[in-house]
This record gives sequence, C-alpha cells and structure tokens, in this order.
Amino acid sequence: MFPAAVLQPPFFDSIADDAVNYGAIGTIIGHEISHGFDDWGSQYDGNGNLRDWWTAEDRKRFDERTKILVAQYSAFSPLPGYTVNGELTLGENIADNAGLEIAYKAYRRSLGGTPAPVIDGMSGDERFFAGFAQAFRGKARDAAMLSQIKSDPHSPDEFRVNGAVRNHRAFYSTYGVKPGDKMYLPTEQRVSIW
Ligand SMILES: [Zn+2]
Repeated sequence: MFPAAVLQPPFFDSIADDAVNYGAIGTIIGHEISHGFDDWGSQYDGNGNLRDWWTAEDRKRFDERTKILVAQYSAFSPLPGYTVNGELTLGENIADNAGLEIAYKAYRRSLGGTPAPVIDGMSGDERFFAGFAQAFRGKARDAAMLSQIKSDPHSPDEFRVNGAVRNHRAFYSTYGVKPGDKMYLPTEQRVSIW
C-alpha cells in the first residue's frame, strides 16, 4: 500500500524524468513486493496464514545467498566501534537489493528497446542510480544512529544505497567501477536473489 504522502519528492515527482522515478519510488515499490518472498514473507501463504510454501531446495539456495548478504552488511560500520547487524537487517537488505533489481528491469523495459535520452549530461542508468541514492539521503546524530543499529531492522541510509548498488551489475557498467575501487565487489561475491 502506498499512501499519497509518500508519492512526492524525493520518492516520486510527476514532472521528473522516468529514470529518476524508477530509481526512487520504483525501487521502493519493488522493495515492498519482495517482502512477500523474503526470510519472513516466505513463511506466510497467499491468505496470510503461517504456512511455509517453499520447497526445501528453494530454502537451501535462498539461505546460501542471503548468508553472503549477512556478511556483507555486518562489515559496514556507521559509527566507530559499531557495525550493522546483518541478521537483524537481513529482510530489509534483501528487499533493498531485490527492489533495485526489479526497478532496474522495469526501467529498461519501459524504454521499449530505444536508447535512453541523455539529460543534463547523464545517461538513463546514471539518472536511475542517482534517483535511488537521492531517495535515501539522511543524517542522524550519533545517539540516534546507535539506537538504529541496535533496534531498527533497516540498515542506515548510506548502506541501504551503497550495500545494494555494489551487488548490481549495471552499477559497474554505469560508473566503470573496477578492482581497487572502494565499492568494487568481485563477481563471485555479488549477491543476486531474484
Ligand atoms: Zn521493508
């Protein structure tokens, strides 16, 4: 459910370019859809009843991939001496990664095979990622950040963006990210859930 209040900048802007909106509200819509299929949502069936509807094989492969996400996010340090809790934030991190993937696919599909226009010197993919990052700008005092790390199932804003984009292949092609760059992840360490 998307209340009207969220459908405004920086999440959605009716006069903005499509790429920006797909990167912002598109990733959030994809994020919410994916909660139906994450470590929690998979335990409930289509009627909302507590019934695991996955096969043992699906569960096993899902756990293998999400274990890598737990390790990735547990390495992020928003405050000196503290790190993100990769287990607590797993469901939200899965949703952020899945949301980015779904929104990117939707954006590319919306182009219908035609090249995206260049606007203000930025390619369509650059504007997509910029829209995503702009939607998660935030600032918190250390005490609030500490409280978030300890109790909020969402990762801090900075890592919701940086943690997701570095798993996405288009991030590498868009910005020419290469080995040695701070956000570079070797291909075998990138996680794609859906
Ligand atoms: Zn969520």
